[in-house]
Amino acid sequence: MELNITPLIDREKERPFLIAGPCSAETEEQVMETAHQLKEQNIHLYRAGIWKPRTRPNSFEGVGKVGLKWLKRVKKETGLKVTTEVANKDHVFEALKHDIDVLWLGARTTVNPFSVQAIADALEGVDIPVLIKNPINADLGLWIGAIERIYKAGIKQIGVIHRGFSSPGNTMYRNAPMWQIPIDLMAKYPDLTIICDNSHICGRRDTLQTVAQRALDLNFDGLMTEVHPSPDDALSDAKQQITPFIYGELVKDLNVRKANFQNPATLTDIKDLRHEIDIIDAEIFEILGKRMKVAEAIGRYKKANNIAILQPTRWGEILMKAVEIGKEKGLSEEFVASFLKAIHHESIKHQEEVLKEQVKSK
Ligand code: PEP
Ligand code: MN
Repeated sequence: MELNITPLIDREKERPFLIAGPCSAETEEQVMETAHQLKEQNIHLYRAGIWKPRTRPNSFEGVGKVGLKWLKRVKKETGLKVTTEVANKDHVFEALKHDIDVLWLGARTTVNPFSVQAIADALEGVDIPVLIKNPINADLGLWIGAIERIYKAGIKQIGVIHRGFSSPGNTMYRNAPMWQIPIDLMAKYPDLTIICDNSHICGRRDTLQTVAQRALDLNFDGLMTEVHPSPDDALSDAKQQITPFIYGELVKDLNVRKANFQNPATLTDIKDLRHEIDIIDAEIFEILGKRMKVAEAIGRYKKANNIAILQPTRWGEILMKAVEIGKEKGLSEEFVASFLKAIHHESIKHQEEVLKEQVKSK
């Protein structure tokens, strides 16, 4: 679908567009104190969750609409614009009634087309900017579907928030960034304002800076970061929130590069491309590591059932399939075959190790 999107920000003047504020509005004092301190950090938009989607019941589920009055007070006292998450049509009506400037859809909403459609219906005929977080699972189609639903309701100012994707296993991230997905989205819709939620990607404080810098290096328009006056005491997402002071340091340390190729003589362009390559390479090795773990599990199975490591028929099938997929991606047969042979060789070595270990332990 063709989208005629109006950017949420002025890319010349407002990059990086800074959205910050607590995960949840907890008390009026906490909301006001954070807002006043963030105003001094020159943020562009103040965030606070009023209704919180929590994994388990009996967790803090947000203060509800009383918090919208606090956000109104933020607007009045600081002049900051404010945003909150809406997950159903009642949230939309309440937020509009309280003059919230920007709405956002959370990851658990984007994942469900029924919920997105209900919000789109509630927004019919309303003129308000909407930010759409990626769905929990790594499905670009689902993300695009949500953008299209909101667009069809007549909303023209649409942006997206990349908050990473749920992925099994222990990685260093709370939600794996899988940068290639937002990169594909940017390529498809260059006018879409794209924000990186480094807080929900990291899930911890010590990596917020690196992920924020990476997002800017990948030409994201801005950041959404959770900030709390006393992070350890936060009622939600305590581990990833930072104080307004630390937030200020983070922003100061960002290296803001040029957004586009205004001066072809500079080396900025090539640097950005190299950064992208580095990130992709890191992802390739992460995936290869995972593949080896699976190969080892198969090795244990082969040992238990006394099956030979090399299965020529299976190997032939893998190779044929890979060559086919490779062709679709513009990769030569020669390259695919040699690449896969190297991987296969390494898998066999890992499986041999597994067999040896089990023999030793007998
Ligand atoms: C949040 O922004 O606090 C939130 C609940 O985020 P997400 O939808 O990304 O989980
Ligand atoms: Mn949060």
